[in-house]
Amino acid sequence: MALTGASVLLSSSIASGQATGSSQAPRQSAQQQLRIAAASSGGSSATRCQRRAEARQQQQQKAWRCSSVVDGAGASMTVDNESDAAPVVAHAGEVARAAGVRLDPSPELLQLIRSADAFTFDVDSTFCADESIDEIAAFLGVGEQVAELTAKAMGGSVPFQDALAGRLGVMHPSREDLERFLAGHPPKISPGIPELVLLLRSQGKQVFLVSGGFRIVIHPIAESLGIPIDHVFANTILFDHDGAYDGFDPNEFPSRSGGKREAVQHIKKTHGFKTVVMVGDGITDFEARAEGGADAFIGYGGVVYRENVAKLSDWYVFSIADITTALSQ
Ligand SMILES: [Mg+2]
Repeated sequence: MALTGASVLLSSSIASGQATGSSQAPRQSAQQQLRIAAASSGGSSATRCQRRAEARQQQQQKAWRCSSVVDGAGASMTVDNESDAAPVVAHAGEVARAAGVRLDPSPELLQLIRSADAFTFDVDSTFCADESIDEIAAFLGVGEQVAELTAKAMGGSVPFQDALAGRLGVMHPSREDLERFLAGHPPKISPGIPELVLLLRSQGKQVFLVSGGFRIVIHPIAESLGIPIDHVFANTILFDHDGAYDGFDPNEFPSRSGGKREAVQHIKKTHGFKTVVMVGDGITDFEARAEGGADAFIGYGGVVYRENVAKLSDWYVFSIADITTALSQ
């Protein structure tokens, strides 16, 4: 099965118990649910896999009961059942290797990431295994319209600020809407992220989140893993006196195209960092690798494989644990 040009979406479905303390790992069970999304080009070859995987996803949708926010220190996340995911990840790996994607880090890159002062992470489909804006849109009953705009934004074909304004205009979320959404949708932190954050912290590296998503969603996630709020760069939704949607803060770096690059440049400058590594799945994340910004870009395909991003990556991984392993050696 050829998937040239395809983007492959791999969703990790995790059901977990509560973290009980810094010395105890949460009891968790997990199911992997997979969906191969037809790409904007070359998607027809993925049709059979897509149908099969989507049927499986529908069957497993009820397994989404993740409360994977864990206490930072000492906590761990396990995935009990990766058997369903393995073939698709392996296939995406074959596609990537055939496309010339760098699936193994060079010695120079290893040296760079091991000596880095800070790691900055994209959130949607990287730090977390979903696209929060799409989730909110689905909750509000406008999922299809917003998903289409999100796909365009991730593909780099629409200025981010226009896509953001368009999506929020369609969603028009009130404060109450978002509070209800958050109450019923615990974050789905990607497997391996808690361990990597712990390792980075133990090595004295700073951790930042740079996201086109919303602070109201991301702040609790950051806090759950011990990441300070002033290490979060994301969008702020504005509300009027009655709590109705009233636009977004245009002063936030991620509200505009190139904003993630500006955010990382700001982080590097204000903290005096010499070396910063960006980890993400989208083209807007790769944009952060620029003069004065990120010194290296690690692409992540554990949720979505985007070939254009993969080919630009200094190193491309399908598992966050690969980064943890590389930093541990
Ligand atoms: Mg992303």
